[in-house]
Amino acid sequence: MAAKKEQQGPPLGRRVINLAKAVTRHVRDGGQKVSDITYQRRLEICRSCASCDLGRMVCLEMNCGCKLARKARWRSEVCPLNRWPSSSDDCVSGGERHEETENSIAMHPP
Ligand code: SF4
Repeated sequence: MAAKKEQQGPPLGRRVINLAKAVTRHVRDGGQKVSDITYQRRLEICRSCASCDLGRMVCLEMNCGCKLARKARWRSEVCPLNRWPSSSDDCVSGGERHEETENSIAMHPP
């Protein structure tokens, strides 16, 4: 039973709050993104993680619920289980904040 609940990820309200916090962190970080190498490393770790919904590529942790294609790209984001390598010295310029935010909400229906 607990495993099934965990597979569903956080409820919609929690996802919206988590997304708002993530967007705030990203904006405060100047919209910085990680390099392609770090991005691919992060996604590789997620694909082997039990908290990853592989079909949707969504993190199912209660403090997350994010689309990993976006989360793994933003420098300000961290893995809720601390499985990602540090990206403090790794960034490229950002610039897609608003489009990604709207798409993220659209991709997470109730
Ligand atoms: S962000 Fe962390 S907890 Fe979430 S799926 Fe990736 S490795 Fe797993």
